[in-house]
Amino acid sequence: DAKRDAHGTIRWFDSEQDRLARERRSTLGRVRSALENGDLSIYYQPQIDLRSNDIRGFEALLRWNREDGVILPGAFLPEIENNDLICDIGRYVLRGAVEQSALWRRLGLASHVSVNIAGRHLQHPEFIDDLKAVIESVPGAHVSDLEIEILETTAINDFERTRDIILRCRALGIRVALDDFGTGYSSLAYLSQLPVQTVKIDRLFVNRMINEERRKAVVQAIINIAGVFGHDVIAEGVETYEQRAALAEMGCHAIQGFYIATPMPEDQVPAWIPG
Ligand code: C2E
Ligand code: MG
Ligand code: MG
Ligand code: MG
Repeated sequence: DAKRDAHGTIRWFDSEQDRLARERRSTLGRVRSALENGDLSIYYQPQIDLRSNDIRGFEALLRWNREDGVILPGAFLPEIENNDLICDIGRYVLRGAVEQSALWRRLGLASHVSVNIAGRHLQHPEFIDDLKAVIESVPGAHVSDLEIEILETTAINDFERTRDIILRCRALGIRVALDDFGTGYSSLAYLSQLPVQTVKIDRLFVNRMINEERRKAVVQAIINIAGVFGHDVIAEGVETYEQRAALAEMGCHAIQGFYIATPMPEDQVPAWIPG
């Protein structure tokens, strides 16, 4: 027992106390408390299919509700992505999004949900079991309603393993999307070997596409390559009508962005849905 060590001091105990106190004050500790206290919530952003103009589905996006406002994931996820807390958060978002999807399905609404998965969680030995557990325990959940989004950098980090996990997801009937495409290595070799169904073009390209011909050419190239591999292509960060029109013209399958809607709490979704 470290509290009564050979020297009879309580130093170890003190420093353990200090460590816990420090952790509680740190982002990691505060996010852990937020998860336990129900202060983490999920917003949903619609994706529109440009071929049918229907809702393709919704991306689940994490939010931290604090007294000083709603905090975006960029302000706290980077600090916890190397801790197992990111896996607990991943399970929480997966369950919440799948429950929401089952509810929307019961209401006859679009029920596809996309969930962002951190590299650490994806490569965790229990990840596939986490997916199965969620699908099996949520009443009315349809496996085909679920898509997971992974970053290219995650895939490249442990390529063979990621490839194997993607294949196991697909064997379960879950779709897999490559997120933020264009910002990482974006290698053709990788893209051709990753068994994903969807490629999401990073908003950096969409953003500057209208004024920069070279960016537009990159977007067109990604759409063409994705077409060769049979992938669905979603453009992220569409903020204007011009961008939407240009993407439709280029043959992009779906779009997501503030031009359509900003991410919203789930209770606002039914009212938002057109018609
Ligand atoms: P992402 O997966 O690429 O998600 C798209 C981000 O772009 C979201 O930011 C969304 O709010 C924002 N966005 C959507 N449309 C527009 C637009 O038209 N203009 C602009 N400027 N931004 C737009 P958000 O919600 O802050 O999330 C940031 C990132 O945090 C996500 O990027 C994703 O990588 C990560 N993230 C979010 N939720 C989760 C989660 O539950 N788990 C994990 N592991 N990561 C998450
Ligand atoms: Mg995403
Ligand atoms: Mg993205
Ligand atoms: Mg991103």
